[in-house]
Amino acid sequence: TAKAGGRNTLRFFDACIQLAMDKRLALEKDLREGLERGQMAIHLQPQVNQAGKVVGAEVLLRWYHPERGPVSPTEFIPLAESTGLILPLGKWVLKEACATLRRWADHPALSRLTLSVNVSARQFLESDFDRQVLDILAASGANPCHLKLELTESLLAHDVADIVEKMGTLRERGVRFSLDDFGTGYSSLGYLQRLPLDELKIDRMFVCDVLSNPNDASIARIILSLAQNLGLSVTAEGVETAGQLDFLRANGCRQYQGFLFGHPVPVAAFEAGIPAPL
Ligand code: C2E
Ligand code: MG
Ligand code: MG
Ligand code: MG
Repeated sequence: TAKAGGRNTLRFFDACIQLAMDKRLALEKDLREGLERGQMAIHLQPQVNQAGKVVGAEVLLRWYHPERGPVSPTEFIPLAESTGLILPLGKWVLKEACATLRRWADHPALSRLTLSVNVSARQFLESDFDRQVLDILAASGANPCHLKLELTESLLAHDVADIVEKMGTLRERGVRFSLDDFGTGYSSLGYLQRLPLDELKIDRMFVCDVLSNPNDASIARIILSLAQNLGLSVTAEGVETAGQLDFLRANGCRQYQGFLFGHPVPVAAFEAGIPAPL
């Protein structure tokens, strides 16, 4: 009967939800263990200037699980954010980044580079986040001027005064800030003016079709002129072709990141690719 069929359908959905919950729990357990067992690594993706010279890198978290293989951050970062695991994970990434900066400090070419670290809203909103960063910087001996923190627009749904204060504490010590994935979130232009930012990152969503889609081209241009008016620098994300680069350059973008210049690679491989100055 229809009723029995309905019940079966319900049971089927229950089973599906149960399965999804089990999978999520298993992934969460594996992630927690992965951090403890040394399965995490940072990769670095070059950021280049107009001359094509590498000026820094974005730090991207990688997880290699012995059975699952590589798990994408687009899969495990949202899980880490909702479970709170992003707090120890984020600290680990900051420590790795600062240790790397310290190792580079005496190198003729690497010592000039900045590292950009992604910071989740959940991390930044911890009451002592600014203190955590300063402690990690001090313990590692890294120069704060070489550290950049990438924030996302989701942060702006929270107490802006508190955000501005933490940013101010860190900026006083030389740490810089960029707003990641700009244009995809819900920040109002008013917030943009209040935040002590150094840089906007144009999301790769807009860069992708900048040559074929007039709307994306307009958005990219608007972001670039907005940044110029606010005195912010801009890094374009996801630059894959020479055509995209030409467009961005012609419209005033001075810094780029994307597969055209380099994929995220292990730290040693990144270091090997930086030529010594003449
Ligand atoms: P994101 O911060 O916007 O990082 C840029 C993403 O774009 C990276 O993906 C990078 O590999 C990818 N990408 C770079 N250039 C290109 C390109 O030319 N074409 C294409 N198609 N993709 C490109 P990934 O490494 O998978 O990271 C995804 C997201 O996960 C990051 O987006 C960031 O939001 C988050 N994430 C990664 N590492 C961390 C971390 O340590 N902490 C936090 N909180 N989030 C992280
Ligand atoms: Mg980023
Ligand atoms: Mg981004
Ligand atoms: Mg992005």
